[in-house]
Amino acid sequence: MAIKVYKKGDEQKVATNFRAREFDCQGKGCCNTTLVDERLVEYLQKIRDHFGKPVYLTAYRCKTHNARTPNAAPNSYHVYGRAADFHINGVAPAEIAKYAESIGVKGIGLYDSFVHIDTRESKSFWYGHGQQLRTTFGGAPKVEETKKEAYSLGKFVLDVQKACGVAQLDGKAGPVTLSRTVTLSARKNRTHAAVKAVQKRLFALGYTEVGEADGTAGAKFTSAVAHFQQDNGCKVDGEVTAGNKTWMKLLGMI
Ligand SMILES: [Zn+2]
Ligand SMILES: [Zn+2]
Repeated sequence: MAIKVYKKGDEQKVATNFRAREFDCQGKGCCNTTLVDERLVEYLQKIRDHFGKPVYLTAYRCKTHNARTPNAAPNSYHVYGRAADFHINGVAPAEIAKYAESIGVKGIGLYDSFVHIDTRESKSFWYGHGQQLRTTFGGAPKVEETKKEAYSLGKFVLDVQKACGVAQLDGKAGPVTLSRTVTLSARKNRTHAAVKAVQKRLFALGYTEVGEADGTAGAKFTSAVAHFQQDNGCKVDGEVTAGNKTWMKLLGMI
C-alpha cells in the first residue's frame, strides 16, 4: 500500500467507482496535487460495493486548506491523503460506521451527517465533534467474540492473583486481592505478569487496540485502558493504579 500523488482535477480512475479528482482538496487556489492512500480507496470501494450506492466524499486537504478549516487538527490524516469524510444518501452514518468496523478500518469517526475513516494502524473510534471515544460501532469481527469466551473473568482474576502474589488462588476477587494489586503504567514502561493479564482481558472485552499480550505497558496499553476507563466511569488516565476503581471494575468487583 502506498500514498499516490495525482494532479488536481485528474479524471483517472483509482478504483471501479472512484476517480482521483473526487479526493481533491476542496480549498481554492491552495494546491495543485492530491495525495491518495491506496488503502483508503480500497476501504471506500468495499463500502461502495456493500451498500451499492454512490459515496460522496471529501478527502485530501493540503496544509494551507487544513489550517483554514475550522476544528481541523494540524496533523489530521486528511493532510496525508489518508482520510475521507463521506456520506451515502439513504444510509444512516451509524450503519456505515458499523460496516467500516467489520472490514477492519481502525480510524472511524461517526458524526450526525457523515462518517470519517482513515488508515491509521491502531484503533481509534469516536463520536461527534466532541470526539467522545467509542469501543465499537457494533461491527466487531466475529473472531474477537471467540477470544472473548476464551479469557473469562474467572481466569483473569486467577492470573492477577498469581501475578500479584495473593495467597488464596480462587479466581474470585475481593478486598484481599485488591489490596495486593500493583500500578500498571506506561509512564514507568512497566513489565509485569499483571500487565499481560490486563492486556488479555481488555482484548477479550473488545478493546482490541491493546494488541499483543506482551506483558509490557506501552502506548497501546495506555490507549486501551483509557477507553475502558471512559466506558466505565473511571478517572481517565490510562493507568491501572494499585487498588483503584479501574482495578475494581476490571476484576468485576463493582
Ligand atoms: Zn489545497
Ligand atoms: Zn475527517
